Amino acid sequence: MQPFSYVEPRSRAEALRLAQAYPEARFLAGGTTLVDLMKSGVVHPPMLIDVNRIGGLDEIEAAEGSLRLGALARMSDAASHEAVRTQAPGLSESLLFAASGQLRNMASLGGNLLQRTRCLYFRDRHFPCNKRAPGSGCGAIDGENRALAVLGTSAACIANYPGDFAIMLVALDGTVYLDGPAGERAVPAATFHRLPADTPHIETVLAPGEMITAISLPLGALSRQSRYLKVRDRSSYEYASVSVAAAADFAPDGTIRDARLALGGLAAKPWPVTEAALLLAGRRPDDPVAMGRLMDAAVDGARPRSGNAYKVPQARSAIRRAFATLARRSARSVA
Ligand SMILES: Cc1cc2nc3c(=O)[nH]c(=O)nc-3n(C[C@H](O)[C@H](O)[C@H](O)COP(=O)(O)OP(=O)(O)OC[C@H]3O[C@@H](n4cnc5c(N)ncnc54)[C@H](O)[C@@H]3O)c2cc1C
Ligand code: SF4
Repeated sequence: MQPFSYVEPRSRAEALRLAQAYPEARFLAGGTTLVDLMKSGVVHPPMLIDVNRIGGLDEIEAAEGSLRLGALARMSDAASHEAVRTQAPGLSESLLFAASGQLRNMASLGGNLLQRTRCLYFRDRHFPCNKRAPGSGCGAIDGENRALAVLGTSAACIANYPGDFAIMLVALDGTVYLDGPAGERAVPAATFHRLPADTPHIETVLAPGEMITAISLPLGALSRQSRYLKVRDRSSYEYASVSVAAAADFAPDGTIRDARLALGGLAAKPWPVTEAALLLAGRRPDDPVAMGRLMDAAVDGARPRSGNAYKVPQARSAIRRAFATLARRSARSVA
């Protein structure tokens, strides 16, 4: 690991001032992504700005139909928070099904949004990778790509975004709050991550020196009937090959009034399926025509590579399962 300096600011203003003065510096939260990448020589920031001693960034509050999660709230604290479990169960699931208990105790929500791809070539600096070393090529396109993306890829990069929490956040119309040199701003979670195009090294809309301060989402009928279904190679702890963040508001007769859907594991960013509300409104989740149209819309434009064509049928069946489970849960809560 290359030498670096380490600073522990006590206020947000001080942290932002340091980030502006040292543009190559990185914020350190739980360190479960950043330190790994530093040890393997993938990133080498000259300075770490440890934000853990800044007060007020780890709070979790539910009020007036909205849930607000501080960027430094730990994954385990958010997953087990009563308001999250009862009013946004899919969000709690997306956190609980991620990583391991020890990691969830360390890892912050802000850091979770900013985790990097698990593409093998990105994490091994002996291979070409346009994301790690722009212009060097992509080892995965004609190489090992079983875990990588089938949607939104480019000729420069086919990496996928590996996280879980952001998928549910997008499905539930979440917002990410930022603070930086240009002041505070709010960004819809759906536009926070970027597709690779010809600049795969730029993964989010975060500007240099900007910090994530909080995350919010509306609480209501959709969040209360949300579900995160994660399909993975093993159930102990593993990244998703495909994941489905689904939410549905059911009428008493079992038809869907409103719905949301986002997919994980398939693209460089959480993949919202914006057609879900329109295609499912007034339909039952066991309506094969409506569900067929939704599954078609979800994987429209998919471009599988040599090793990952299995993700397309896997995503289709996971979507059906997620809405079927929501329907069963809703019927149970009415009974
Ligand atoms: C073995 C293993 C298995 C895992 N499995 C899963 C999984 O199944 N699902 C899943 O979703 N995740 C998984 N993860 C990823 C894990 O959830 C992330 O490493 C973690 O959430 C990152 O949070 P952190 O606080 O440790 O971030 P850090 O490592 O501290 O930071 C990560 C990045 O975010 C930046 N950063 C951190 N906080 C802020 C902020 N407030 N503002 C601006 N920038 C910031 C840092 O500079 C750094 O670039 C796994 C990780 C490991 C090691
Ligand atoms: S898919 Fe992206 S991250 Fe993986 S080697 Fe290619 S450029 Fe790098």
